Amino acid sequence: MRTGVTAAEALSVILDATPVLGAETLAARDALGRVLAETVVSGRRLPPSDNSAMDGYAVRAAECAGAGPDTPVVLDVAFEVAAGAAPERSLSPGESARIFTGAPIPPGADAVVRQEDTERDADRVRVRVAAAPGAHIRRAGEDVGIGDPVFEPGVRLGPAHLGMLASLGRSVVSVHQRPRVAILSGGDELVEPDGEITGGRIVSSNSYSIAAQCLELGAEPVYLGIARDTPEDLERHVRAGLRADVIVSSAGVSVGDHDHVRDVFEKVGCIFRFWGVKMKPGYPLAFGGLDDGGDRLVFGLPGNPVSAMMTFEQFVRPALRKMMGHRRLFRPTLRAVLLETLHKPAGRLHFVRVTLERRGDAVVARTTGNQSSGVLSSMTRAQGVLVFPAEDERLEQGTTATVQVVDEDFLSADGPGF
Ligand code: AMP
Ligand code: MG
Repeated sequence: MRTGVTAAEALSVILDATPVLGAETLAARDALGRVLAETVVSGRRLPPSDNSAMDGYAVRAAECAGAGPDTPVVLDVAFEVAAGAAPERSLSPGESARIFTGAPIPPGADAVVRQEDTERDADRVRVRVAAAPGAHIRRAGEDVGIGDPVFEPGVRLGPAHLGMLASLGRSVVSVHQRPRVAILSGGDELVEPDGEITGGRIVSSNSYSIAAQCLELGAEPVYLGIARDTPEDLERHVRAGLRADVIVSSAGVSVGDHDHVRDVFEKVGCIFRFWGVKMKPGYPLAFGGLDDGGDRLVFGLPGNPVSAMMTFEQFVRPALRKMMGHRRLFRPTLRAVLLETLHKPAGRLHFVRVTLERRGDAVVARTTGNQSSGVLSSMTRAQGVLVFPAEDERLEQGTTATVQVVDEDFLSADGPGF
């Protein structure tokens, strides 16, 4: 097992070992946010037939070519076509058909004149504008044609995609499975949120933040509870999670006397690929896989609340996105102007929590304050994670740095932009 790998090496080992999960069949209405595992080819035209974009009159354009405000063309109103009704017959010369939005264009008609451009007089209509062929007609197949490949595998299904699938008559769809992530917290000091925090006890906040990180990206957390700091209790909890796609434990993965996580995972068949990543927060990260050919991943995250969340953010999140079939695994990044000078020793990559603000066309960043790996409020305030490269010792105020955007709300405008 390698120790002390760079963040880039860690990520590449993890992603190489991460499988893309297979497909499952879902009701399309339940597939929001899921990643398509099939090519969707249209078996129909959308719209299915030429239809009117307006309430008005279907006409023969040639008959209305000379129409104008002072030279109206008078046509018979021969019949009516409502949305959802088939035209009862075709249009003959000298005729128009009353037509409503979405109604099919009757054969013989090749334009629609808007109601506003006409005057109705019993069973006649006076057309006061010239109509060009095709005016106010939505053409059959102008949206989608028969045989068109509409969506490729890897497309993330949003609201418009679900509407399109419905229009195509697809009520069932094939998407990538969501990984089940077993979440385990370990430590004699840990209690649930309703527990007493006397005698050095603390609440197992990691259980909640990590489960929420899973939910936020669409994975399915399965909470295994809190294990005591004994190999036996840890093993009992770990075994309960062995059927999950991914096991994420936090704490007990370092070099202390009560850190049994690595031994216990090895006992149940985990082969660790590396331990220790040259980053801060989050050095003591262990990664491996279960040696049963099942492609199941094991992450032993550090226990400190910020380290646990940051290692999840940098490594577990992209792996889970890959499993779910996403092609794009990472957060958006941007270059932000630093409002303060940052220092550190060379050697480890620092992930600095920052707030972000738009200033004209630029984005400025300042740290969220105390960057200790136990200070969870540095995460609650973070809108971005600034990448302070391993070998750099200073980032000067006024220069730019790469920031991963973890909360896009700062981009939200004061108004709607119209
Ligand atoms: P350890 O890796 O067990 O030495 O834990 C490192 C630090 O993280 C200690 O201060 C622990 O109390 C803290 N810690 C461990 N697990 C959790 C958890 N589930 N929630 C919050 N803090 C934790
Ligand atoms: Mg511990």
